[in-house]
Amino acid sequence: MKLIDRDKQDGTKPYVYDLSLEEWQEWIKLNGEPGFRAGQIFDWLYVKRISSFEEMSNLPKTLRDKLSQHFDFVTMTEVAKYASKDGTVKFLFELSDKNAIETVIMKHSYGNSVCVTTQVGCRIGCTFCASTLTGLKRNLTPGEIIAQVVKSQQLLDATGERVSSIVIMGIGEPFENYDAMMTFLKVMIHPKGLNIGQRHITVSTSGIVPNIYRFADEQTQVNLAISIHAPNDTLRSKLMPVNRRFPFAQLIEACQYYVAKTGRRITFEYALMGGVNDQPEHAEELAQVLKSFPMAHVNLIPVNFVTERDYVRTPRDDIFTFQRILERNKVNATIRREQGSDIAAACGQLRAKHMESGAR
Ligand code: SF4
Repeated sequence: MKLIDRDKQDGTKPYVYDLSLEEWQEWIKLNGEPGFRAGQIFDWLYVKRISSFEEMSNLPKTLRDKLSQHFDFVTMTEVAKYASKDGTVKFLFELSDKNAIETVIMKHSYGNSVCVTTQVGCRIGCTFCASTLTGLKRNLTPGEIIAQVVKSQQLLDATGERVSSIVIMGIGEPFENYDAMMTFLKVMIHPKGLNIGQRHITVSTSGIVPNIYRFADEQTQVNLAISIHAPNDTLRSKLMPVNRRFPFAQLIEACQYYVAKTGRRITFEYALMGGVNDQPEHAEELAQVLKSFPMAHVNLIPVNFVTERDYVRTPRDDIFTFQRILERNKVNATIRREQGSDIAAACGQLRAKHMESGAR
């Protein structure tokens, strides 16, 4: 009951979205209410998507009062909204403590995908990323992660569309906010929750090795992406300080465990940085590493320009050469279609701009 007890510890109430259905069932039981009330609350939150306790009209007033004494709805104020020519919409939301987070809705031919933030800032320190420039402020609660999808769905409700997939690739390292991420997943995939297919959800990690093992053991159908970005220890440590905590060999071993345990493929994200990690020899070396994964898939990402960093883009022809080398070595590789580049949609760029103006 740690979530439910949060109010006693730091003076704030937990959010209604902080609880999985099982946790609601527990809360309902502890409060002497009939078990079916948990399902009713869940239905109001995720199917009807209401925004106040008063709207829960099939609950007795006494229960609604109790709920409002113990829980809050997540406050997410839209500070800025940027719409790209390609249909991508990026939101900057302010939370109740004035911290800002980013959420992106991307339009694909197969539906709408939402990219969620899991932390305010990030302590991982990847050298090509704007999200980490001012370090980690705090973890988001499960409810604050869930609220981003509910809000996106509420916006799509206006046009009768739905959120069909989710990528946990926004600001933050989800595997450093693991328990909140797992509660988030439970609510997303529950048939009585947002009912999003597990295979339509992808979580991306920079390589927090112990939690790759943990995630493998959860035996979910949720996709795993590893931000690899380099083919060896030396270069990866330069680009991603997390590699000094969890060296390359340990990461690869954890990935092999994941594949053996789940039978699922891993997507390896590789951000191409001009003259840094995008040479043919890097592609050859990467292919050698990934050959041991029969179903490995590499997603090549032309790096987004971050004002505070020095990286430049890889020329188009070199991107294709890199891809060809991987494929010649039987490693499947695609080049990520860029979305929202005209609206600074790369992770953390809007928040960084917002903070320059003195905000948190
Ligand atoms: S890429 Fe992800 S893990 Fe790395 S600093 Fe940025 S938000 Fe953190």
